[in-house]
Amino acid sequence: MTKAHKLDCESVSDTCRFIIQSENQEEAVELAQKHMKEVHGTELTAEELQSDHLQVV
Ligand SMILES: [Zn+2]
Repeated sequence: MTKAHKLDCESVSDTCRFIIQSENQEEAVELAQKHMKEVHGTELTAEELQSDHLQVV
């Protein structure tokens, strides 16, 4: 089975239900960074996202 990289924004924010799921880790990180910046005004590095927020499912 292929692994997917997932960001569940609920783990970061109480109000946001945004979920990113991609089999491509780079894409997942890119989308997550964009979402965090545009919606939450938070700039996270790829490393921070990967270690703190992205799950492999
Ligand atoms: Zn969000």
